[in-house]
Order: sequence, then structure tokens, then C-alpha cells
Amino acid sequence: MLDETPVAALRGVGPKSAEKLAAFGIETVQDVLFHLPRRYEDRTRIVPLGSLRPGDQAAVEVSVDLAEVKFGRRRSLLVRVSDGTGSLVLRFFHFSKAQQAGFERGARLRLYGEVRRGPASLEMVHPEYQRIGEADSPPTEERLTPVYPTGEGIHQLTLRKLSEQALAMLGDERLPEWLPRELREQMGLSDLQAALRYVHRPPPGADLDALEAGTHPGQQRLAFEEMLAHHLSLRMLRQRATHLHAPPMDGGAELLEAFRAQLPFALTGAQRRVIEEILHDLAQPHPMMRLVQGDVGSGKTVVAAAAAARALASGYQVAVMAPTELLAEQHFANFRHWFEALGVEVGWLSGRVKGKARRAAVEAMASGELKLLIGTHALFQDDVAFHRLGLVIIDEQHRFGVHQRLALRNKGREGQLAPHQLIMTATPIPRTLAMAMYADLDSSVIDELPPGRTPVRTVALAESRRAEVVQRVREACRAGRQAYWVCTLIEESESLQCQAAEDSAGQLAEALPELRVALVHGRLKDVEKARRMDAFKRGEIDLLVATTVIEVGVDVPNASLMIIENAERLGLAQLHQLRGRVGRGSAESSCVLMYRAPLSQMARERLAVLRETCDGFEIARRDLELRGPGEVLGTRQTGLMQFRIADLMRDQALVPKVEQAADWLLRHAPQQVAPVIRRWLGRATRYAQA
Ligand code: ADP
Ligand code: MG
Repeated sequence: MLDETPVAALRGVGPKSAEKLAAFGIETVQDVLFHLPRRYEDRTRIVPLGSLRPGDQAAVEVSVDLAEVKFGRRRSLLVRVSDGTGSLVLRFFHFSKAQQAGFERGARLRLYGEVRRGPASLEMVHPEYQRIGEADSPPTEERLTPVYPTGEGIHQLTLRKLSEQALAMLGDERLPEWLPRELREQMGLSDLQAALRYVHRPPPGADLDALEAGTHPGQQRLAFEEMLAHHLSLRMLRQRATHLHAPPMDGGAELLEAFRAQLPFALTGAQRRVIEEILHDLAQPHPMMRLVQGDVGSGKTVVAAAAAARALASGYQVAVMAPTELLAEQHFANFRHWFEALGVEVGWLSGRVKGKARRAAVEAMASGELKLLIGTHALFQDDVAFHRLGLVIIDEQHRFGVHQRLALRNKGREGQLAPHQLIMTATPIPRTLAMAMYADLDSSVIDELPPGRTPVRTVALAESRRAEVVQRVREACRAGRQAYWVCTLIEESESLQCQAAEDSAGQLAEALPELRVALVHGRLKDVEKARRMDAFKRGEIDLLVATTVIEVGVDVPNASLMIIENAERLGLAQLHQLRGRVGRGSAESSCVLMYRAPLSQMARERLAVLRETCDGFEIARRDLELRGPGEVLGTRQTGLMQFRIADLMRDQALVPKVEQAADWLLRHAPQQVAPVIRRWLGRATRYAQA
């Protein structure tokens, strides 16, 4: 089987290159086959020089008229060639004596290269070339020539030779077709081997535009199977979860009531509805796997806390995990505020907690003395063990992978008993991604913001208009309002960033002597940070200069103006989240996005999105369109959802068919499911660990 045949089995691959290929993600012959060309070259026919245009890439056959070295700004070798229909200049900046000598008058050459407009005539710069005989020109290629993405120390020619050999090894035993004919006919899919042959070596006349866009039926056949594999793996996960047991939780209405009663606001209808859905799931004897989506500020934390209250009241532990220290800290502050009043101690664990404090938290959790633990992915570490973990809450899950979700579930697992899971996100997921990432989850949407939020007017201004912006701050504060001035990361280092914020605060205090200005940043001691924030809340500070620490959690309805420096450097979601700090009172609020000119086209479009809408879902949708899901969801960095062939934006249209195919396969050919998953996700698949 080609998925078990190492690349080293191919001619020309020694231990050294096998290592380089492995680092590039190519370990088996099957990997070679799934590494598709990025584009193609047409060397199937010889093009007469007379028909060449600038920009063409072509194979030509010519004879040399004249070769000479020119000493201009750069020494170059110019070779004038012709074929009876026209002429062309070959230009070389790097060349050896021997090379130069090979271009004697009358020598015949086969060339391949891109045609450019030169000073006097058409040119090819550093074309590929070979000497050919007077009469016996070698046969032209029969197929289009693939150009593969290359990597560190991996050459184009190597990849071509490897794919040539891999294609020759194709066979029904070696790369079986797992999709039954009936299914393929229904879905209009070709067979796997034919698709691979076509995509690696298309025939002349193939639709190059479609191939290079990745929308050719051959590529779509492969993308389809890959998406199907991911989808099936999640469906299997879900199926398995229904066989797992979880503690049914329906105890302790009092704690939940007490929690609700102490909130200084009434829950929105959407929050109440979603809490009901969660409580229903928690009462089941199988693990809940529920995704809660809601815009920034829709109040997901309260919903999560209500779920935690139910689990705690039923005698189980709860772990709450957020992807960054800052977010986790914010949850810690909120949960502590709510639960310590109810007599529940709240534990804290992040990468920064070390030594004694860490040991104490880990021990208290393992013994069951501590019931509620908030933290970052530090909660996954090997020595962290739980005692009756009943509920896992994960915030902004897209920054974690399915793997991590499962790892956390497995941590709390005792035999067939697994904890319930609640996952929260402010980033709406496009259908393709949801199918691939969340097919194992039920979903709830908090589609209503708490009352009293007013839309924020947003403008983008160049840094050069700083004086005007300062004036706006002056006017807002003179009218009795408060303002935020956010200094965002320019420097990578936190200390430099704090320094920049300090400088800004100093300048602003000088420019606005009549205002009370305070500064908060990550380097301040917690008590000091809290003291300054509190003063701002009480209205004793007019202008709060801050690093992005205020992204979360500050709630001051009287603040109606927000300035964000270097806005072009932040993600849309982060800007949206920052902007959500204003617009919480009755006064009309505004946000100024300051940027350094000149803006790139992309930056301009992204800032425009914020000017046009305050709807977080719409913003996320436009962001996905502009940047693609890998960037937006951070899936590139985390290595989650690594598709080799499918592209989640490009291939969205395949989703409904993939879902249908999964249904069909599970019903009519369930024995094919595991092999399809294994082919694309490998043996150590997440579904195997479920
Ligand atoms: P997110 O969904 O972005 O995580 P949070 O849970 O942080 O939102 O809530 C944002 C703010 O709104 C918090 O200050 C929270 O206390 C407040 N909040 C939540 N629910 C309500 C509500 N029903 N009415 C008024 N304020 C609320
Ligand atoms: Mg939140």
C-alpha cells in the first residue's frame, strides 16, 4: 500500500533527502501523490518565434546567430537566436566560460522560458535550454509539465521525478478506491487514480485556468475525498460520544438561582434560551458537546458561569480554559467575583504559575478540594489531574484544535465516564469549516446583545491628524464623558510596548493639561492596575491610556470615545472587541482608528469593514473573505485543520455533497469509513483517540 511505502523506496531518494522530504511533509509514496502541482508548463509543442508575445511561456527550437558578452551596468551574455519565423535574444547574467563557448554560431537549441519585452526585441532571461542535433530533435513532452511547490533543499526536478515514479506505481491494490462506484456516480466523481494521473500530468489542451485555480474536476475529486475524511472523522467522534457516559446533572437549583439573583442585570432572552439548552444537555447521561456562538459583548461568560453553577451544585468539578493569559485572567476575575460570593473557591493555573503556587493548585484539583479551575492550555499539562471533572468550558475554541478538545476530555475521563463540554466562540464559522471542525458539536447562538448598547460611529484617520484627534478627546471630556486611548503593539517586546504607552501617556498629559490622565499596561502590579481601572470606573480619570489589556472586561458606560493607534496592525476581531468597550451608555459613542499612511489596499478594505458595520458576525464574515480562514482562525499556526488539497474558502460549494456522501457511506458502506479516514488523516487520527 502506498500509504505505507516510504519515499526512500523511490529511486534517487537517500537518507538525506528522505529527511528533507519528511520535514516538508512527504514521508510516503502516497504523500508524493497528494502533493499537487501549483501550476503547469506547456512543453508539448514547439512554438514558432514569430507567434510569441510578451508574457508567453513557451518551448521553442532555434539556432544561434550570435553570442556576445556585453559590459553594461551588469555584465551579461546575450545570445541572438532565430528559427526562420522570427528572432529572440537570450540574456544570461550568470554564465560560465564553457556555457558561453557552447553558443557557437549555428548551434541548435531547445529552449523553455518566459518571453519578455527587451530593449531591442523579445527576450528570454535565463531560459532552460538543451543542445539538440541538426536533424534529430528529441520528442516533445506528451503531457503538461507540473510545477510543484518546493521546500528547503527540495528541487523541482526531484519532485517531478518522484511523482513520475509514484504515478507508475499506482494500482488497485496499492491505492484502493474507497468510494463505491454507486456513490461516485451519484456525486459525479471520477475514480481516484484517474484524478491523480490527470492532475499530475494533464494532457495538452487541458483547462489550465481551472487547474491553476484548483477547480478542475480532478482536483475537486481529491478535495472532496479529503473533506469527506475530515467530516467522517468528526461524525465518528460524535457517534462515539453517544456511547460514552457522562454524569447527568440536574441537582442544585439553589446555587443556580443564587447565581442569577446576584447578577446586577437581567439575562437577555437569548441568554436564557441558550442556558436552557445547556441545562437540558447537562441532565443527559451522555456528554454534552455544545458550541455557543455569540458576538463580542453578547454575554457568553454569564452563560458559561450558569452552566458551571449547575455542575458545581451537582457535585462535579469544572475547568474553564481560554487561549490567552489575558482572556483567562478576565474569566478568573469574573468567576471569582460571582462564585466566591456564593462560597465557591476559584483556582487559577496558567503557564506563568510556577513552583509552590502551581503545586498547590494542582494538588487541590487532584484531591477534589478545589472545584472550579480557570486557566490557559496549562490545564492540559501531564501532571494536572482532576477529581470528578464534570464540565469543561473552552473559550474561543478555534484557537485550540479538535485534538486539544479531546485531550481535555480524556483528562477528565474515568472509564466510560467523560465530562460535558461547552465551547464558546465569537467568530462565526463558514459552513466549510464548521463541517470540518464542528460536525461533532451541537450549536447554540446568542443572537441578541444586552440592552442599552448603542452603535459606535467609526472613522479612520491618518496618524498625521493626531492634533485633531487630541482635540476630539478634549471636547468629549469637557462634555463630561470619558475616553480610552489604546496604544497597540508596534514592538514585539512587552517592555518596549509598555514604554511606548508610557511615552504616549506623557505626551497626552502634556497636550491635555486640564484632563486627568492615567495609564494601564501589563507591567503594572495587579493591585495598581485594579486601582487605576477602578478610578476610571468611578469617573475620577478622564482619559485612560492603555495597551490592549483593556480589550476585555472594562465596563464603563460613561466612556464614549475610543482612540486606537496603529489600527492597521490589529486583526478585525480584536478591533471589534476593543471598540466594544464604548457604546455601552446612552451617549452617542465613536471610535477613531488611527493609522500610519500609506495603507495597503488590504488594510484599507479591512478598516472600511469596521466603518461600515458594528455586527461582529458580519465583520468576521468579511474578514474571512479578505484573509481566508487559515489566517483568521489561526489554524495555520496551530496546525489544526491542515488540509493538503482542499481549500476551505474555494471548496465551500462541495460541503452539502460531502455531507450527503457521508450519510450515504455510513448507511450503505460503513466498512469504507475507517479506510477513508485513515488515508487522509493517518493512523494516529484524533478519532482513534476519542
Ligand atoms: P462576551 O460574549 O464577549 O464574552 P461578556 O460575557 O464578556 O461577553 O459580557 C460583556 C459584558 O456584558 C460584561 O460586562 C457582562 O457583565 C455584561 N453583560 C452580560 N450579560 C448582560 C445582560 N444580560 N445585561 C447587561 N449586561 C450584560
Ligand atoms: Mg468573552
